[in-house]
Amino acid sequence: MNAFEPPAAENPAAENPAAENPVAQKRYEGKAKILYATDDPEVLLTYFKDDATAFNAQKRGTISGKGEVNCAMSQHLFRLLEAQGVPTHLIDCPTSNTMRVRRVSIVPLEVVVRNIAAGSLCQQTGLELGTPLSPPLVEFYLKNDALGDPLLTEDRLRVMGLATPDQVQQLREMALRVNQVLSEFFNQCGITLVDFKLEFGVDGTGKLLLADEISPDTCRLWNQAESDPNRRVMDKDRFRRDLGDVEAAYQQVLQRVLAQSV
Ligand code: ADP
Ligand code: MG
Repeated sequence: MNAFEPPAAENPAAENPAAENPVAQKRYEGKAKILYATDDPEVLLTYFKDDATAFNAQKRGTISGKGEVNCAMSQHLFRLLEAQGVPTHLIDCPTSNTMRVRRVSIVPLEVVVRNIAAGSLCQQTGLELGTPLSPPLVEFYLKNDALGDPLLTEDRLRVMGLATPDQVQQLREMALRVNQVLSEFFNQCGITLVDFKLEFGVDGTGKLLLADEISPDTCRLWNQAESDPNRRVMDKDRFRRDLGDVEAAYQQVLQRVLAQSV
């Protein structure tokens, strides 16, 4: 029934698994990734696309090489986090743009941690871009494109039955731990971790795992060697704001990340 086989490991330039395996069972196609079933019901194969979207998919484009950057960077950072005691969904990467992950039931929240004010926080509060946030700000957004991913309060989380106060506390603690580990790591790369979005899921045993991806699509990253507010941007804001050199920025982030051992 499930004749799907992951692309051969010796083919690093493997294309979309569906192209090679017409019988590959696509489970879900999102804006940036496609999830495929595997022979093991507890394991999914994630294919990272070059497709880029912004502003709730109103802006669409392609960032050449993004799939490989996001896959390799996520793998490196998930390994780092695992080593620091944060459980993640990562199993391994059979090719340069595919990742095998533990299947989880995704908590429909985007957990955002902010160290410096940028983006929607500035637009919605009037805080000036670059304002340091200490201690870091942890925010919960509903993962629902149709509703525009609205910001939630803890009371709304409770009313909607999305998370109990205990679960909110657990998500907050894990997000802050991730922030500690990643902030220090990026600092060693000469990069400031401004803010980032995490997704969590619950596995078959009820354990909360860090899922999805950690990449220049999901983090704001500023080059510490640049003071100019546009030149310093190394993340998806280059695409959102048409700053140019998007591909080069993604490659530069990956190079610096891979240069730091876990
Ligand atoms: P979206 O357009 O919803 O952001 P993506 O293109 O990022 O989607 O595709 C990834 C989808 O897979 C997301 O909906 C994400 O929540 C989900 N996902 C990520 N990791 C896992 C996992 N380990 N198990 C199940 N679903 C996952
Ligand atoms: Mg996504």
